[in-house]
Amino acid sequence: MTDTAQRKRQIEARLQELGVRLQRIEDVLDDTELSDLEDQTIEWEDDEVQAGIGRASLREARFLTGALKRIANGTYGTCMSCGEQIAEERLDLIPYANLCRHCAGASPSET
Ligand SMILES: [Zn+2]
Repeated sequence: MTDTAQRKRQIEARLQELGVRLQRIEDVLDDTELSDLEDQTIEWEDDEVQAGIGRASLREARFLTGALKRIANGTYGTCMSCGEQIAEERLDLIPYANLCRHCAGASPSET
């Protein structure tokens, strides 16, 4: 059984990891703004990918922040829909999960 303090550390570590990555993406985008854009077609395409990763990271960061709030108010690990405990294995995979596997409508292949 993973206790919430341990889970909190896991989430905070993940947030920190995302923060580092986001900073790196900002650096790349800043560099391109300073260069001659007419000759930077390939780099611009790369930036699109980087920006996409950035958006996904921001989204995950928001979920993780929400999970930290739920830890603080004691609702973490409880399904927001049916009130059942969310399985440890599910939280290992998705630390910010707020629905149990059943309510999240997981794929039928999952047992
Ligand atoms: Zn549920």
